[in-house]
Amino acid sequence: MKNVIIEDKEFEIFLPEEKVEARVKELAKQISHDFADKKPTLLVSMNGALTFGGELMRHITIPYRYDSIRVRSYAGTKSTGTITVDSAPKNSLEGRSVIIIEDIADTGLTLDYLIKYVKEHGATSVHTVSLLFKEEACKIPGFKPDYIGFTIPDRFVVGHGFDYDEDGRYLRDIYALVGSAR
Ligand code: 5GP
Repeated sequence: MKNVIIEDKEFEIFLPEEKVEARVKELAKQISHDFADKKPTLLVSMNGALTFGGELMRHITIPYRYDSIRVRSYAGTKSTGTITVDSAPKNSLEGRSVIIIEDIADTGLTLDYLIKYVKEHGATSVHTVSLLFKEEACKIPGFKPDYIGFTIPDRFVVGHGFDYDEDGRYLRDIYALVGSAR
């Protein structure tokens, strides 16, 4: 498969669409089993998890509600970036079993923030699902999403919803930046 160029960077194939789709189906099956009687609220972290969240929901076979949240992270001079909510969920999370849907957990700071946010807003339980998890890059000791599509090395990825400078989300496969392996 050919490498792709986005702006000034070259990316090589990393996870083909078929592999991602097969894994998404497995995750949906697992979640449908684990939350069978809970009617969870699926909280999509925007914009990144829009593609993954939509695909996951298409394969979840139990009743659920969904909502979205948009956060912005500021990478300050310190390793702990500051995160703020840009767009809050429309519906109350009070008393709900919430599953946060994220595209990728890198440092883990965003998901850590979202978990706290959801708990503070009265959810009875909070779980997380992330299509990708960069375990080596995680800065929260012991943190791991409850459901993980793929644990990947610390490489920058685009495609299948992942962007580089807002470009490349449309690519069907997931690509990794050439030379970004550590
Ligand atoms: P964290 O707070 O876990 O460090 O970062 C989470 C967010 O960083 C993700 O939701 C995503 O928007 C962005 N991010 C982290 N790694 C990558 C990557 O490899 N590719 C892209 N496109 N975004 C990433």
